[in-house]
Amino acid sequence: MAYVYDDQNVFAKILRGEIPNRTVLETEHSLAFHDIAPQAPVHVLVVPKGHYVCYDHFALEASDAEILDFTRAVGKICKMLGVQADAAGDGCRLIANAGVHGVQEVPHLHVHILGGRMLGRMLA
Ligand code: C5P
Repeated sequence: MAYVYDDQNVFAKILRGEIPNRTVLETEHSLAFHDIAPQAPVHVLVVPKGHYVCYDHFALEASDAEILDFTRAVGKICKMLGVQADAAGDGCRLIANAGVHGVQEVPHLHVHILGGRMLGRMLA
């Protein structure tokens, strides 16, 4: 079954400049911005500019250049915001909700970067 992308979703509108955002980083294939309702001191969303519904869609169909760009963007933002898990940073959590069971609200792939405090244990 093919993935179906709805280009009226809120992140598509952000990418088209129809809705404002607080940008953290923009690269050739990715945009990162602060979540409008932050759940932690650091709460940034990283989205690919391409039309991918969720992580599995992106992983299966994006080009190598898009995947590299997106993956590096996530790493760069962790470093920029001081939540990388090296000796200088305290770490963070990356989350990519997908579909109905994943309780994904916005159907455009986004990775949440959450950090800046000790997070609760969360598997489900
Ligand atoms: O992973 P999920 O789809 O549930 O998360 C969507 C996220 O997008 C929420 O954290 C919400 O606060 C955020 N959001 C946003 N800006 C909007 C609409 C939603 O940052 N305009």
